[in-house]
Amino acid sequence: MTLIPQQVFDRLPSAIIVIDDQRRVMHANKSAVSLIGENALNRDLSLSLRHPVILDSADDVLAGATERAGEITIPAPVAQSFTFHVERLHDAPLPDGSFATLVLDDVTSAHKTEEMRASFVANVSHELRSPLTAIIGFIETLRGPASDDVDARQRFLSIMHRESQRMARLIDDLLSLSRVEVNEHVAPQDAVDVTQTLHNVMEALQPQAAIKRIKLNLNADKSTPVALGDADQLHQVFRNLIENAIKYSSDDSAVEVSSKSVARVPGSARPGLSVTVHDQGPGIPKSLIPRLTERFYRIDEARSNTAETGMSSTGLGLAIVKHIVNRHRGHMTAQSEIGIGSTFTVYLPAHPDQNAI
Ligand code: ADP
Repeated sequence: MTLIPQQVFDRLPSAIIVIDDQRRVMHANKSAVSLIGENALNRDLSLSLRHPVILDSADDVLAGATERAGEITIPAPVAQSFTFHVERLHDAPLPDGSFATLVLDDVTSAHKTEEMRASFVANVSHELRSPLTAIIGFIETLRGPASDDVDARQRFLSIMHRESQRMARLIDDLLSLSRVEVNEHVAPQDAVDVTQTLHNVMEALQPQAAIKRIKLNLNADKSTPVALGDADQLHQVFRNLIENAIKYSSDDSAVEVSSKSVARVPGSARPGLSVTVHDQGPGIPKSLIPRLTERFYRIDEARSNTAETGMSSTGLGLAIVKHIVNRHRGHMTAQSEIGIGSTFTVYLPAHPDQNAI
């Protein structure tokens, strides 16, 4: 029999435990030791891995079964799920006493990913379903009871228009999010004039701000360096932040946007710039701030009713911002005080060649 060196076993991600015919632990590779501890060696398996399904399976194999397999969850200290496989090595114990192997594979993150995928699909379906249900309802009314009612027709058509725009916005946001995620690991390399980008975004949002008589003020410090980034994605970051500031603020308030240079981007050693969007809106409870960048997270439905300016709420805006900022190796912070307003700050690395534009 060829003996495989211990180092090879230690490099395997699976936890491999070899037991004797008395269920004592004879060998354990590195992954197994981190699971059952150093003291497990030469002692009964039940002293280090107290899971009834595993122990029963090991007993079955020791009593004559060739193999047993299944899945278990160990609840403490943090719930972890494993697939396991117990198998007899030989009809009789080997000279060193080895008799059976127990192999465990951690499938916790695979389960989590699957849960996230399922809840994502459920959320998307729900978000698309509501406007679609409204549109179908109005089409039915227009074909039946309201077919000759000119006033109702105009009213219903405008609601259908709004609901279909909501669906289009949701699909656009989902596509943006998946595009950003696909190349999040590739840092962008363009030189971006952030001051000009802010100017363009604010000009484009002026009509929505005007509906609520909200003043948009830009204070771009001359020190603001050229950013190392992706121009379209940065446009989207600033658009989402300034749009939120307008969307959630009350009429006759002001949104202040400013930019300046910073010695270092937080969490990195690189010099950069910061862009701050400050509003006088309702504010966000401190405990909810960490949740803002979760997909589909909205503080409350009432606040998200923004039909007035035609800016609908998908709950994806800040998730997109977070992923774009991550891709830029930047950083984002949010501060807020109830009744006073919110301040979102994005930090971005500066382009190494400041004459690149
Ligand atoms: P949405 O499309 O709903 O605006 P976001 O991801 O951009 O999605 O924002 C998530 C939620 O955070 C919003 O629904 C809103 O409740 C809250 N929010 C975001 N920005 C602000 C702000 N400037 N002031 C108050 N609440 C905000």
